[in-house]
Amino acid sequence: MTAQIDERLQQAKRVCQQNGQRLTPIRAGVLQLLLESEQPLSAYELLAHYQTKHVSGAQPMTIYRALHFLQQQSLIHHLSSRRQYVACDHPHTHAAHRLTQLLLCDECGHTQEVPLEPHLSEAMQNHAQAHAFRLKQTELELHGLCAHCQQSEKEPSHV
Ligand SMILES: [Zn+2]
Ligand SMILES: [Zn+2]
Repeated sequence: MTAQIDERLQQAKRVCQQNGQRLTPIRAGVLQLLLESEQPLSAYELLAHYQTKHVSGAQPMTIYRALHFLQQQSLIHHLSSRRQYVACDHPHTHAAHRLTQLLLCDECGHTQEVPLEPHLSEAMQNHAQAHAFRLKQTELELHGLCAHCQQSEKEPSHV
């Protein structure tokens, strides 16, 4: 494990403590897999990695529960449109930072999180509330092309 990932796991532990929760070894193990991955992963991929690297007999339900927990602590995000999960490196502790924006490249799968400005996040939450709507998902998924893929789109193909 790199020092950077270790540091982020320690940080996650503190976030859980502040919320009166505990980052158990299973939860930490799943989070570590997402921190180590450069791409978002599906629950199935996480299960396979977890079985290879941690506990060979791990059950799907265990992974789903850990993912649900990590999501509730805003340590990871769920990309519903892709059925994948991605680790989060931004603070979501304050209500003003609850909503977040995820830019998804439909070409290469690249995912980038760009947190909404607090006033936008608050305005959107207030609008939902004004319509008596209770928010459950806090990820706004925007689909498009990343800078890299826009570039290769312009270049003629050499195939
Ligand atoms: Zn986030
Ligand atoms: Zn791309």
